[in-house]
Formats: sequence, C-alpha cells, structure tokens
Amino acid sequence: TYVVTDNCIACKYTDCVEVCPVDCFYEGENTLVIHPDECIDCGVCEPECPADAIRPDTEPGMEDWVEFNRQYAQLW
Ligand code: SF4
Repeated sequence: TYVVTDNCIACKYTDCVEVCPVDCFYEGENTLVIHPDECIDCGVCEPECPADAIRPDTEPGMEDWVEFNRQYAQLW
C-alpha cells in the first residue's frame, strides 16, 4: 500500500485523488489519507504529490503511518 505522511498537512493539492483508479483517498480537514486495504499499489499518485507526502509502506518506519491512514480512512 501507499500511505500519506505528514508533508500532506495543509497541502491544498488533490491531484493524487484525481488520478487514483480505485478512489481510495479520504479527505479530512487538514490532510488526506489512503485506505490501505483499498489501495492496489499502482503507484500513480506518488509522482502527482507536490509535497512528496505519499510514500510506499515498504520504506522503513512506515508502520505507524499505515495505521494512521487506516484509522482515518475508516472515520472519514
Ligand atoms: Fe490509489 Fe494507486 Fe495511489 Fe494506491 S497507489 S492510493 S491505488 S493511486
């Protein structure tokens, strides 16, 4: 899965949301999140993010971000 990290906070671009083929972004007041169970790992959103906030969960230290994304994707 890909995850949204803290660089997303207060970023106003939603180019990533528009390119996602499965609509798995959820939008809060100050950030977006990706539902980790819905993301198909296609990677097309990553280069669209001007803040470099979207990272693959294969990078080190992403476990907490996966849980953050999951938690808020279910709330929003
Ligand atoms: Fe959507 Fe693909 Fe990005 Fe996952 S990697 S959030 S499926 S655009």
